[in-house]
Amino acid sequence: MIRIAFCHWKKSVFAFFSIGLLPLFLYAQQGDPKATEVYSPVPPVVTPGKVNSDPPSDAIVLFDGKNLDLWRSVRDTTQPAKWIVADGILTVEKTAGNIETKQSFTDYQLHIEYRIPSNITGEGQARGNSGVFLASTGPGDAGYELQVLDNFNNSTYVNGQAGSIYKQGIPLANACRKPGEWQSYDVIWTAPRFNEDGSVKSPAYVTVFHNSVLVQNHFELKGQTLYIGQPFYKKHGACPIKLQAHGDKSDPLSFRNIWVRTL
Ligand code: MG
Repeated sequence: MIRIAFCHWKKSVFAFFSIGLLPLFLYAQQGDPKATEVYSPVPPVVTPGKVNSDPPSDAIVLFDGKNLDLWRSVRDTTQPAKWIVADGILTVEKTAGNIETKQSFTDYQLHIEYRIPSNITGEGQARGNSGVFLASTGPGDAGYELQVLDNFNNSTYVNGQAGSIYKQGIPLANACRKPGEWQSYDVIWTAPRFNEDGSVKSPAYVTVFHNSVLVQNHFELKGQTLYIGQPFYKKHGACPIKLQAHGDKSDPLSFRNIWVRTL
């Protein structure tokens, strides 16, 4: 009788320690979960816009429908940008040439909306052509152009259609809306870096959503987007963002809701 009771006691003690030590056993097997928890730096609070296309709280609003105070002429950078602002939208004035931001940027997130006129005419590259130059590197330079063009029902060379990085990056999709409808680009631009001697330290990369469809996925640029010849890099620092007044004969397109977040 005593022997049976003793055995019971031994089993209970064994069970107690087995179950009691289980968490410790698991702990020893899997490590400390706290070892991989990180508490700093704490991400800054950024309040999003009411809708995703609205500027978040930390954005620089480059065009809010009122004026072109943050822009200038490229032809003469001492002069204001002379495109047409009316009814909350910005319309290209082709005779005034390209315009660019007064501020220079390096890496950024950009939102921009454009509208090709509903009565657009022309074909190929001569139909609603404009461009968002992700860095306007200086007079006489090509810069880096994200193509704006009507390709809803218009074909051209694929590395020059809407959503292309001009003559370098074919868009992953043709996400064009019909002429007359507002369209958007959302861009993540990583500027190239250069060594002292002008050689490339790291190339430029770009990710682009066209009407929320991914068209450039961390695309590595080979240099500036030239009209003729192979692309190459030329050393530069922070640059303005430039919009193109293309010389074709089709009616000018419009822009609205342009904002940027520096990264
Ligand atoms: Mg263009």
